[in-house]
Amino acid sequence: MSTLPHDDLAASWRAARPEFAGTHLDSASCSRQSTAVLDAVARHARHEAEIGGAVAEAAAEGLLQQGRSVLAGLVGLAAADVAFTESASTSVRTLVSRWRLAPGTRIGVLPGEYWHNAAVFADAGLTPVLLPADAVGRADLDGLARVLRDDPPALVHVTLVGSHRGVLQPGREIAALCRAAGVPLVLDAAQALGHVDCDLGADVVYGTGRKWLTGPRGVGFLVMRPSITAQLTPVLPPEIYDDRRVGVDHARAYESHDAHVAGRVGLTLAIGEHLAAGPDRVRARLAALGRATRERLDGRRGWRAAEPLDEPTAITTLVPPDGVDVREVATRLRTAHGVLTVAAGRERAPRELTGPVLRVSPHVDATVEDLDTLATALLG
Ligand SMILES: *Cc1c(COP(=O)(O)O)cnc(C)c1O
Repeated sequence: MSTLPHDDLAASWRAARPEFAGTHLDSASCSRQSTAVLDAVARHARHEAEIGGAVAEAAAEGLLQQGRSVLAGLVGLAAADVAFTESASTSVRTLVSRWRLAPGTRIGVLPGEYWHNAAVFADAGLTPVLLPADAVGRADLDGLARVLRDDPPALVHVTLVGSHRGVLQPGREIAALCRAAGVPLVLDAAQALGHVDCDLGADVVYGTGRKWLTGPRGVGFLVMRPSITAQLTPVLPPEIYDDRRVGVDHARAYESHDAHVAGRVGLTLAIGEHLAAGPDRVRARLAALGRATRERLDGRRGWRAAEPLDEPTAITTLVPPDGVDVREVATRLRTAHGVLTVAAGRERAPRELTGPVLRVSPHVDATVEDLDTLATALLG
């Protein structure tokens, strides 16, 4: 079996956090914040009570601007392109509602598109154009090139790493094809940022801080090139609308007026910790953890990993043996063994799942012992 790189990273990441009661293998739902992030969030909230919410926010503005800057850097865009939001879901709702594309506008999506994104597109009356994909749901680049050449949609939306399957899409190649065709590319990076490289040349990247970036819940982001915001209509009075559309504030117009500012402070710190850990090291260890998980479980007692063994992500989704109730298994793992995983239901990607899968998603602190604990608990 392969070994895991960067054990020092695992130790420092673990030492920086409160101890977990059991074995946490569910970072794709919500990962663990560091003590420094928890303290910074609490400190900002206290500051609000001591000097007033708006004054505390103004005092934090330099830090928040650094947050926008480092977040933008991770996706290859600029600080001015960043809007803090409340979640990945609010990001895509804001993007689609403010884009005001005419009903019937064609939007290219892969078969495994995340259910909520598909629902948002349907709600706006957009027409999904299914892009060609292989048997695991990975974009077929030749097929995509053909679609973009023969009958291009108005935009392409890709979920870089799925919630229902740990497959990494070829984002850089997709971005290059879209750019050559003049078709904007929107990336859902909710499972990708802090996990895999997201600096790929997309026009819009959105996601959440609570998964792989280990930020607080309730803080997400929507990062858009100025060429995209030039096509959007913010909900603002006309007199400030024209000022806001351009220049340094072009993305800020899409932030909520009131927000969990303490959470934004926390996400800024969490991204700083991610950068200090070294994104390349984090990615290498996460990829190795995914492989080690699949090596232990794929083909054992009828469980099957949906991803190729060496897929460079930390998300493993296990298709159960016939007759096994995945929800019951996830509950038993937690209550009887203290192992936190999740049963991901078919609704997450109805075109690709036929039933629930057991999703295992360790962060960098996980060890081979943790994976062995899971394997013993699952396989008995
Ligand atoms: C979690 C997730 C979302 C939704 O994120 P929220 O922050 O919960 O709104 C969207 N897309 C994917 C791929 C996800 O995994």
